[in-house]
Amino acid sequence: MPGTIEFRQVPKPVPGNDEVLVRVRRIGVCGSDIHVYHGRHPYTTYPVVQGHEVAGTVDSMGAGVRGFAAGDRVVIMPQVTCGACYACRQGMYHICDHLRVMGFQTGGAAQEYFPVSAAMTLKIPEPVGLDQAAMIEPLAVAVHALSRFGEVRGKSVAVLGAGTIGNLTAQAARASGAKRILITDVSEYRLEKARRVGFPLVVDRRHEELGEAWKAFGPDGADVILECAGSPEAMADAIRHARKGSTVVVVGVFATPPAVDMGLVQDRELLLAGSLMYRKNDYEAAIAMAASGVIDFDELITHRFAFEDYPAAYQTIDEARGNIMKVIIALD
Ligand SMILES: [Zn+2]
Ligand SMILES: [Zn+2]
Repeated sequence: MPGTIEFRQVPKPVPGNDEVLVRVRRIGVCGSDIHVYHGRHPYTTYPVVQGHEVAGTVDSMGAGVRGFAAGDRVVIMPQVTCGACYACRQGMYHICDHLRVMGFQTGGAAQEYFPVSAAMTLKIPEPVGLDQAAMIEPLAVAVHALSRFGEVRGKSVAVLGAGTIGNLTAQAARASGAKRILITDVSEYRLEKARRVGFPLVVDRRHEELGEAWKAFGPDGADVILECAGSPEAMADAIRHARKGSTVVVVGVFATPPAVDMGLVQDRELLLAGSLMYRKNDYEAAIAMAASGVIDFDELITHRFAFEDYPAAYQTIDEARGNIMKVIIALD
């Protein structure tokens, strides 16, 4: 039930024919995990095994699995899809009508051994460490969000919200050749993290108007604005500051429906695009990005806990009140 973390001793799982048994080594804790913990996630039933940002090594595999060997370092895509609905038939399985996400609507990887479909398992190349690998999932969120706009090379990009997803979205945009990147937030802690990973153009919306900073984009404004805060105020900023013909990508999850001026969407011919999760190509792009060394993950990993210290990790997150980025659970 919400607010309770329980450890259970279970038999070591046996991988199915098409499954890889992953020895879990790192689990990233994300904001939605905390919502589940507090009973504020609308689509979860209890009890649930959490864990959807995962890195590990291959322990063993079913007879039908090809391309993996014991000891391979891997990440997993946490989606379980139906394969039959309209979205699935169109290759858009990440928005499957019956989408279940591991750690939410189906069991997650917060366990020592986790069996998962080989089709949802990807190998991690040598330069990417296990900590970094555990952040491929949120980086894939960022990569997919940018793909909802398209090619960002040479473009001006605004990222509203500087949490882990916003920060990684800005970093993915930079890695993809964006010309100018502006980041906003209401937390000096998160903005300092943005500066530390190399983004000098940040705006603290508690104290500063956006208009002055926006001039850094020049007369043509921002080509794409990504709302990564899930905040009605940030969404209003996005619509208000969008130039004619620009794209607004909605990445943040809204607790309350934002009210925005749809008249501006009409008048400026804005393109509004939602972004939920990712597909395999986004994961592959994220892995390649991480392997090329252009993403600063280490600055974002602010806390580490042992598996048995899960309760302490959640308590620390609660007490930090937002002054925290990525918490990694490490299993040896
Ligand atoms: Zn997550
Ligand atoms: Zn489906």
